[in-house]
Amino acid sequence: MTPTTFGEIALAAPIQRALKEQNYVSPSPIQAQSIPTLLKGQDLLGIAQTGTGKTAAFSLPILNALHENPSRPKSRSARVLVLTPTRELATQISASFETYGRHINFSKTLIFGGVGKNPQIRAIRNGVDVLVACPGRLLDHMDQGDVDLSGVEFFVLDEVDRMLDMGFLRDVKRIIAALPRKRQSLFFSATLSPTIDELARSILYKPASVSIAPKTTTAEKVDQRVCFVDRENKKELLAKHLEEERNKGLTIIFS
Ligand code: AMP
Repeated sequence: MTPTTFGEIALAAPIQRALKEQNYVSPSPIQAQSIPTLLKGQDLLGIAQTGTGKTAAFSLPILNALHENPSRPKSRSARVLVLTPTRELATQISASFETYGRHINFSKTLIFGGVGKNPQIRAIRNGVDVLVACPGRLLDHMDQGDVDLSGVEFFVLDEVDRMLDMGFLRDVKRIIAALPRKRQSLFFSATLSPTIDELARSILYKPASVSIAPKTTTAEKVDQRVCFVDRENKKELLAKHLEEERNKGLTIIFS
């Protein structure tokens, strides 16, 4: 049965406490559907956008695993790798891990471009629990021998469609090739094109699938009306509307 409160989900007490402090009572649909599955160790294919609560959907079960199963991360490696397309998303994800994991002992670091490499190299030298990274800079570090992904136990590929739009497909494939085969993988994308589907199949093992339809919103600047009209009167009605809109600017007709 799908849980309706966080209390019904088997998350450890320090995580429940952090959720209470955030005033989270009910899991969002993606959380309710994916957290119980992820706690069992299954892979996940999640079709969901930002704003659905997907960050907690993946960070809560991962934090739970780190709490229940503490072990020293390998040097220059991470137990958890979250790959995300932009620095802003990476920063937000890292902040979420901090919020939800505030009563848990774990280390984390961020890797993205546009800033110095040396502090990042120092931060991961002795290994970290959670590494949130953007593909380009992570590969740089891997190529230099400063980061080694052989210690990864949990792999999250976030915003895959945006990652591909930004031209990261090759980089992402190279990163995936460096991961150990035995791991739990979580894959999130707002859309599922054939390329994305193929990528998902190549990295997931018997995944559970969760799909959350985005809330449909309309552009605020667009006025919308519906006119019920018989087919034979359509052209005439269109002509009438065009006449009304005449002095307001350009018109596009979708048909
Ligand atoms: P996300 O889609 O992960 O970016 O989350 C969207 C926003 O929803 C964030 O500001 C979260 O803090 C908030 N949020 C996530 N899950 C919950 C929840 N179960 N209850 C209340 N707020 C939540």
